[in-house]
Amino acid sequence: MRLEDKIALITGGSRGIGRATALRLAREGAFVYINFLTNETAAIDTLKAVEETGGNGKILQCDVSDFQAVQTMIKAVINEKGKLDILINNAGMTIDGLMARTKESDWDRMINTNLKGVFNCCQAVTRQMMRQRKGRIINITSVVAQAGNAGQTGYASSKAGIIGLTKSLAKELGSRNICINAVAPGFIDTDMTQMLAPADKQMVRDQIPLGRLGKPEDVAAVVAFLASEDASYLTGQVLGVNGGLYM
Ligand code: NDP
Repeated sequence: MRLEDKIALITGGSRGIGRATALRLAREGAFVYINFLTNETAAIDTLKAVEETGGNGKILQCDVSDFQAVQTMIKAVINEKGKLDILINNAGMTIDGLMARTKESDWDRMINTNLKGVFNCCQAVTRQMMRQRKGRIINITSVVAQAGNAGQTGYASSKAGIIGLTKSLAKELGSRNICINAVAPGFIDTDMTQMLAPADKQMVRDQIPLGRLGKPEDVAAVVAFLASEDASYLTGQVLGVNGGLYM
């Protein structure tokens, strides 16, 4: 198993891509901390699924946009396990709408969850990973950070910020054997894309060379690769998992 004895934390691990990632990392041998915001039932369900497939893990409630709460969460993990090998910054949300109609509070929520949340978690783990002289951080960005999307200026900005953060932190921490990469999913079939009207989904599908929306497992497989020794010479990269939607 590629991730035997590794300790991993997946933010937003209760649903969608985070859930699939928790399952995949656990299947590859990692102990998985499954973070969630409010949906404890979904987090428990993910943990049960992990355990049913022979894996081990634990759920952790924490709002990633809250700097102090994140410090407390990461300290708890390190106190319990003595290390943290893999951080997956997956928690995210969107409030779509044209710029002209975007409320300041909605803009702030997207930036605070999607971008500041990644800063909060990276900031909290770096000292420990530097001490370990080893670590993997995988940040989930989005195809819309690369291509733009009308109605998603706030979301796209937060996700584009993650790319800048990923590349800069990869330069800061490369000498300490810490690899930081980003994964940019295209349109993935999760709660987040349930809000798309069937006609819009079809329009998206028509633009995808592979002819289908992605599954959370498609993304999880790439995240697991980046977390593994197979990816030990990759850092500062953005891997698109989008069926060819953006090349
Ligand atoms: P979902 O809406 O299915 O799940 C979102 C997850 O994030 C949930 O586990 C949720 O917890 C958690 N979450 C939200 N806000 C916070 C917070 N403040 N603190 C901690 N956890 C939080 O999303 P997806 O699985 O679709 O998306 C996962 C990631 O992938 C996101 O970053 C998203 O932007 C990105 N992405 C998704 C794409 C898609 O097409 N689906 C495309 C490109 C990128 P809870 O269950 O408690 O609410």
